[in-house]
Amino acid sequence: MKTIGLIGGMSWESTVTYYQVINTVVKEQLGGLHSAKILLYSVDFAEIERCQSSDDWGRAAEILADIARRLERAGAELLLICANTMHRVFDEVQAAVSVPLLHIGELTAQALTEAGIHKAALLGTRYVMEGDFYPSRLRAAGIEVVTPNAEERAMINRVIYEELCIGILSETSKAAFLAVVERLAREEGAEGVVLGCTEIPLLIGREKASIPFFDTTQIHAGRAARMALE
Ligand code: GLU
Repeated sequence: MKTIGLIGGMSWESTVTYYQVINTVVKEQLGGLHSAKILLYSVDFAEIERCQSSDDWGRAAEILADIARRLERAGAELLLICANTMHRVFDEVQAAVSVPLLHIGELTAQALTEAGIHKAALLGTRYVMEGDFYPSRLRAAGIEVVTPNAEERAMINRVIYEELCIGILSETSKAAFLAVVERLAREEGAEGVVLGCTEIPLLIGREKASIPFFDTTQIHAGRAARMALE
């Protein structure tokens, strides 16, 4: 079994899920008392968020690349950035280490393709929905990407930073997110929805909707655990 290195804490609310999913997969595959070999470096998310909102992606890349090197030195054999947004600096972080860094968008694109989805709605932070670094990974796999309108994007982004990342799960926000999913299915022809923020699955994803949910936390952590066992 390979040792998985997690660059986590972005936010820690969803890093908890990574720890659970990876261990659950290892337990299912190996049984008995087996559990995953994991190294976790958990950041102070306030420092990272400051880099994001001040558009200092160079600094963000330096911080994550430094963490990746530390995890590699400590024995990690594959690495994960436990957030979609910070994949904006994926290339810089991968360049800093010689072990593989598993891209959350690429693994999600594979899951969409396996499910026969050609057109997917994408929910996430404004960086994920409005930048190209993330949709381009899905499009590279032949998937058409539709995003919420400006008003919906502002609501989703606000809920992520002001509620989900600090552990607040509200029924009002849940209903608002589900309404966006249904509108994108009905009006834009989305065949599936990518929960492209690792905290969104804490809020939605288990209820009945007219299109399937693709939980990026589950996909990223689950596939990494399987790779660690190959
Ligand atoms: N965890 C989130 C994501 O998957 C949002 C927090 C962040 O900005 O890193 O994008």
